[in-house]
Amino acid sequence: MALKISPAELLRAIPSVQELLQSPRWQEYSIHPRLLKTIIQEEVENFRQRIVLRRPARSLRPGDVEGILLDQIQQKLEALTTPRLQPVVNATGIILHTNLGRAPLSAAAQEAILTIAGRYCNLEIELYSGKRGERNQHIESLLHLLTGAEAGLIVNNNAAAVLLVLNTLCRRKEVPVSRGELVEIGGAFRMPDVMKMSGARMVEVGTTNKTHLRDYREAISERTGAILKVHPSNYRILGFTAQATVSELVDLAHQHEIPLVYDMGSGAIEDLGQWEAPHEPVPREMIKMGVDILTFSGDKLPGGPQAGVIVGKKAYIQRIKKNPLTRALRCDKLTYAALEATLRLYVNPAQLPKTLPVVEMLTRSVAELDSMGKEIIRQVGSSAAFKMELTEAESQMGSGTLPLESIPSRALTVRSASRSPHKLAEMLRKHSPPIIGYVKDDLLWLNLRSVLPDESAHIVSALREIAGKKIGKN
Ligand SMILES: *Cc1c(COP(=O)(O)O)cnc(C)c1O
Repeated sequence: MALKISPAELLRAIPSVQELLQSPRWQEYSIHPRLLKTIIQEEVENFRQRIVLRRPARSLRPGDVEGILLDQIQQKLEALTTPRLQPVVNATGIILHTNLGRAPLSAAAQEAILTIAGRYCNLEIELYSGKRGERNQHIESLLHLLTGAEAGLIVNNNAAAVLLVLNTLCRRKEVPVSRGELVEIGGAFRMPDVMKMSGARMVEVGTTNKTHLRDYREAISERTGAILKVHPSNYRILGFTAQATVSELVDLAHQHEIPLVYDMGSGAIEDLGQWEAPHEPVPREMIKMGVDILTFSGDKLPGGPQAGVIVGKKAYIQRIKKNPLTRALRCDKLTYAALEATLRLYVNPAQLPKTLPVVEMLTRSVAELDSMGKEIIRQVGSSAAFKMELTEAESQMGSGTLPLESIPSRALTVRSASRSPHKLAEMLRKHSPPIIGYVKDDLLWLNLRSVLPDESAHIVSALREIAGKKIGKN
């Protein structure tokens, strides 16, 4: 029978903070004594609370208390000295996964970041004149070349871009927007809320499924600041539907001498159709149709860093650049470096399947995924711990891009007699680097379309670990 140990006895066994500070265990950590003391105090307090609330392990004896506390403090120190933000293997099949950081950057963009990160750079200086420069100059000519727009700038993200455009051009003015386009994007981006924050007054026009040109026309008055069109990124309205076309809206806006602002969301700088992917609106085509201002994300289809790209007519862009809010939403040098390098890849679009990870993953053939899967299965070898199969699967672009289109893919499905698929998923998340799969039909799925070519070795080692095998030899 277990001895009944009173909480008071356990509390008495807790060493003082001073005693704990003296432990030789802390010598290997380079941490200021004051911060070490804070950590120890907090861990002692947590421990005390658990005893008071009678939540320690039942078998806890006074003699164990010090050792357990020291271990807990050490775990805290370990956590402090290892980076929390770390690479993970994306086996969800969702190429632009917002929770996993959206677009993995190209080699060119990574190099651009590294080149300037630890040095000074010409972010805001004109090297030929020595005068103060403007940070957007570094990307404006590329944006012009690729989209045909007269001018452009970038801000923190596309949500910021929409906010800034509406605040500059439509504050205290009315903005007609279709009831079918009042988008909510994940993470609390709701078009009506953003419009309100910008100071623009939203005028809903049309109905959810149909908005005709005349609905917009009837909503326009001398109070109107712009017409807003929003790409329904993450949903589609199907069936009995109608939407005024972009060129009709351009004509209508220009008849009233107001701009047409188009929030494109993803913004496929190159038409995906050339790689047999479904069509997303292309900025260049929209500018050609006469759209005055376009906004889109840098880290969705463009495959670059987080940024909100604003391009359009010079007169409007100049007003936007002068808005004090622009200063609050500006990007840092690392973003300019990465976006510039990413945009430069589009100068030679035929090479994008090789140079840009997002396009590489999108265009990878199912045959390639098949051989990747087969190779993983071969290297893991047979195991008593689980059964693995190569299965047909579907992939998605993600981040509200091409929401209805699924891309054919292949997945490894893992089934274990002794462990639930959720347990397997958890074990893979705890691997280093973590591997993020999903559970479906009572199986664990590792979808290969979003796994980068050099990451299959991590999947092999994680599965071998679960199988209880040594890593390394086949
Ligand atoms: C994704 C998206 C946004 C938000 O863009 P972020 O870059 O994530 O801030 C805004 N509007 C539309 C239509 C979108 O698809």
